Amino acid sequence: PYQVLVVGQGPAGVSAAIYLARKGIRTGIIGDRFGGQVNDTLAIENLISVPHTEGPKLAGDLRAHASEYDDIDIIDGVTATGLSRADDGTITVQVGPDAALRAGAVVLATGAGWRQMGVPGEQEYRNKGVTYCPHCDGPLFKGKDVAVIGGGNSGAEAALDLAGVARSVTVIEFMPECKADEVLLRRMGETPSIEVVTNAAVQEVLGNGDRVTAIRYQDRASGEETTAELDGVFVQIGLVPSTGWLPDEVDRDGRGQIIIDARGTTSMPGVFAAGDCTNTPYKQIVIASGAGATAGLSAWDWLVRGRS
Ligand code: FAD
Repeated sequence: PYQVLVVGQGPAGVSAAIYLARKGIRTGIIGDRFGGQVNDTLAIENLISVPHTEGPKLAGDLRAHASEYDDIDIIDGVTATGLSRADDGTITVQVGPDAALRAGAVVLATGAGWRQMGVPGEQEYRNKGVTYCPHCDGPLFKGKDVAVIGGGNSGAEAALDLAGVARSVTVIEFMPECKADEVLLRRMGETPSIEVVTNAAVQEVLGNGDRVTAIRYQDRASGEETTAELDGVFVQIGLVPSTGWLPDEVDRDGRGQIIIDARGTTSMPGVFAAGDCTNTPYKQIVIASGAGATAGLSAWDWLVRGRS
C-alpha cells in the first residue's frame, strides 16, 4: 500500500504528489488523463513566471516533474469508482469492479469535466461531431457549419474562435439572452458568420450513424421546433466537478464541490482535497497547484501526527 494515494493527475494532484515525495512519503498518483483540463487549453499566459506555454506542453512538464521523484508512482489509465475507510483508518480507493488501492491518507484532485446537454444523440456522436473543446477540435471543421451550445463567456469565445475557420456558427442559448461579457457580445454581433438563437432548448443531436448531420431545437416561447443542418456541435455549458463517485461521507455543496477547510481537510478523516473538485473560488492552474501543495502537506501532517 501507499502512504498516500492521490486521485487525479492535473495541476492539483501533481503538486500534492511532489510535496509529499519531498517529505519522503511513498505516493501513488492515479488518473485517466495526465494533465487534466490543461490538455484542453491552447495558450496559457497566467502561470506565473512562465509568460507563455501551451496545454499539452504543460501536461508533459507536469509529468516530467513528477517523474523526477522515485517516491512517486504514476499509475495511468485508472478511474476511481469508490472510496471507503476501515476502522483501522486505512482508506481504500476502488478502481474497478475487482481492483482497489489502499493508503493511509488520500488526496482527492479529480478536477472538473464538461457539463453535458443530456439529450439523445449527444453520447452517440461524441467525437463524431459533438465536441467540448473548440481549441482542440475547431480546425477539424474548416469550411463547415457548426453550432455552439451556450451563450456564456466560453460559448461566445468558442463562437468567435470558430468563426475564423468554420463557414457558419449558430450559437444556441437556453435563456432569453446571452450572458457573455458585453465586449464578446458586440464582437459576435459584428461577425457576419455568427447567428445567435436565444430562448432555445436543444432536443436532439441527429446523425447518419457515422457523423452529426443536424440538431433539433425548440423555441421555448412558441414551442416551435427547428432542425438545423450542420456538421459540428460544440457544447459550452460549463463544467461539473468530477465527484459523483464519492460516498456521502465526503461532504459536498449544492454544486457537487467537495467542501474543504483552509488546510484542504474534508469531512472524511484522512481524506484531503484540492483544486477544481472543491468549493474553493476561482478555478485556475496556479490556484489548483497551490491547493494541491496545501492538501499534500496536510496529508503528510496527518500521517506524522498519527492520524488525529
Ligand atoms: P483537472 O485539471 O480537472 O484534473 C483532474 C484530474 O483528475 C485529471 O487527471 C482527470 O483525468 C482525473 N480524474 C477525474 N476523475 C477521476 C476519477 N474518478 N478517477 C481518477 N482520476 C480522475 N487555468 C489557468 O490558470 N489559465 C488558463 O489559461 C486556463 N485556461 C483554461 C481553458 C479551458 C478550456 C479550461 C477547461 C480550463 C482552463 N483553465 C485555465 C482552468 C485550469 O485548467 C483548471 O483550473 C486546472 O486544470 C484545475 O486543476 P485540477 O488538478 O484541480 O483538475
